[in-house]
Amino acid sequence: MRSSVVVLFHRPLSKEWFQNAIETLERYFQIISVNDFHQQLLAKSLKRKCLITFDDGDKSVYENAYPVLKSKGYQAILFVSPQIIQTQKNYWFQEIGQMNKLRQRAFYKDIYHYDIKDGEVGVTERLKSKKYCEIEQFVAQILKEIESKPQNLTPNQFLEMIQEGVIVPGAHTINHPILKNESLTNAENEIIQSVIELEKMVGNKVKYFAYPNGVPNLDFTKREYNAIEKAGVELAFSCRNAMLKPTDDLYALPRIEISDGGRLKLTMKTYYGPRLFGSYFEKRYSNLQFQNRKAGT
Ligand SMILES: [Zn+2]
Repeated sequence: MRSSVVVLFHRPLSKEWFQNAIETLERYFQIISVNDFHQQLLAKSLKRKCLITFDDGDKSVYENAYPVLKSKGYQAILFVSPQIIQTQKNYWFQEIGQMNKLRQRAFYKDIYHYDIKDGEVGVTERLKSKKYCEIEQFVAQILKEIESKPQNLTPNQFLEMIQEGVIVPGAHTINHPILKNESLTNAENEIIQSVIELEKMVGNKVKYFAYPNGVPNLDFTKREYNAIEKAGVELAFSCRNAMLKPTDDLYALPRIEISDGGRLKLTMKTYYGPRLFGSYFEKRYSNLQFQNRKAGT
């Protein structure tokens, strides 16, 4: 088997953890630059290659991943909302995450008249079945009670990583809505505006996009492809949990998420697991997301 993989990180836990993750990947794959990945993907000549990506732009990317990538001479795509980075605001799920679970549930009960019990799907997952305008109202209520602390990169940190050639910027919408829940006009604006604003911010063309939450058919559909194309995006990334195949859709490339674990878990997740249980893992992941979403409506 000579499969290649795109890995996805959100918040690298520590420098040591991230270094270990990269060294585990190096045992099975050759980690390549974004441009090499792009060219080889189009030429269908990828063999045992790995592309590193990050979503959202949490400051731990600068603190924990950037030094490791820089010292090893690696490159990665970082997908962000340009608005979030520029205004130093948090994503809606980060704001909710700053409040303890019981208070989150109390707010949810006030607004939606439903009492979430222990063991049930939590507030953030439930809000993923709502339109962004509803999510925004929920967050506005929460912000009356908490003092929000900025959790993401500063514009300077973001631009420094790009100037150093370690990060290639990718767009990730403006507000991080679940695109499928939005009207077509809203969904298209979220995609196109994020590319335009990011291009202005970095002074360069943006060729890459990642769908928020990213499960195909649940979080986005082919309906969004028009806007992807119009924005000039060349490759769009999903969170379908699978290895790359030569037949993959360039507007819905799969990625395997790595959020924790040591060498054994990482090896299972990115190497043996997908080979031995590929379609099982893939189905299990999207079923779980689907069940959670259904429970949340
Ligand atoms: Zn995201």
